Amino acid sequence: MGQTRLDKLRVKLAESGLDALFVTNPFNRRYLTGFTGTSGYVLITADEAWFLTDFRYTEQAAEQVRDFSIVMHKPAVIETVKELLDAAKIKRLAFEQGDLIYGTYLDYSAKLGDITLIPTSNLVEGLRDIKDEEEIAVLEEAADLADKTFTHILGYLKPGITEWDVALEMEMFMRKNGAASSSFDTIIASGERSALPHGVASSRVLHGDEFVTMDYGALYKGYCSDITRTVVLGKATEKHREIYKIVLEAQLTCLAGLKPGMTGQEGDALARDVIAKAGYGDRFGHGTGHGIGLEIHENPRLGKLSDTVLKPGMVVTVEPGIYLPGFGGVRIEDDVVVTETGIRVITKSTKELLEI
Ligand code: ZN
Ligand code: ZN
Repeated sequence: MGQTRLDKLRVKLAESGLDALFVTNPFNRRYLTGFTGTSGYVLITADEAWFLTDFRYTEQAAEQVRDFSIVMHKPAVIETVKELLDAAKIKRLAFEQGDLIYGTYLDYSAKLGDITLIPTSNLVEGLRDIKDEEEIAVLEEAADLADKTFTHILGYLKPGITEWDVALEMEMFMRKNGAASSSFDTIIASGERSALPHGVASSRVLHGDEFVTMDYGALYKGYCSDITRTVVLGKATEKHREIYKIVLEAQLTCLAGLKPGMTGQEGDALARDVIAKAGYGDRFGHGTGHGIGLEIHENPRLGKLSDTVLKPGMVVTVEPGIYLPGFGGVRIEDDVVVTETGIRVITKSTKELLEI
């Protein structure tokens, strides 16, 4: 038996000299406990692990949450936290500073009395950066569902329908095949709108002979996939082919070069250099990729400012693009698992330039 997530977190708490951690972030809660409900808190000390929830969820918690004592908390959860900490004679409570809003902090601070609140960041997120086998298996299923959705939508795309129609059809397909929802607002950007890197679907009607960029993913068993494919509806022009070829080369170069030990910045440069050499450096204004997992945007980032070192088990997107205002744009995105020697691509949809 390997170390559990809870064991690993306790090692980090000990290293940081922290006696107790109060986890309020819902993604961190799910990661540590497996609880899929929408209300609950985790309190961890060196010897104890409590899952605090209200009466609506105690039954579900009893079924899903292992290795934690389940406590039904008072209407003000912090009062129950104080009772547990007082009994354990703990005077310092670490909290997740990225999650607690200021008003709540003031309330906690007042109710905790002589217990001091200690701000922390990235304790659980740091563990989540490296996915275990179970997580990678689910991410592969989520990626597979995104691939199936692409195959499905190719038979649906035609001139005369709107971007909304396309998004709805994709989302319905994902839901019918096991997704809880899309992993983010589906981006369907056609024609000159494809020059918008984050053009969520609109009422625009699809025409012939133009790019359609589809950036979407499935939220499946709690995990996100994220894929982008750009196709031409009708006939591709020389310009369509030129832009597409450069983005594809940038993407393939990045996939071929990405490996553990490299920083996020170095990974980003693999794709960026290809686009810059082709003369479109100023038309690629976003990072090359980001981590995915329970959340759609996680660490590590593949970007100009990222000094995070890639490690086996990290799962990131690789998504270079070129955006030409007034003309359109191309983005190609895959999800990849960092391995001991390089990466493994888990989204498999074709990247040939398709004319539909
Ligand atoms: Zn995406
Ligand atoms: Zn993405």
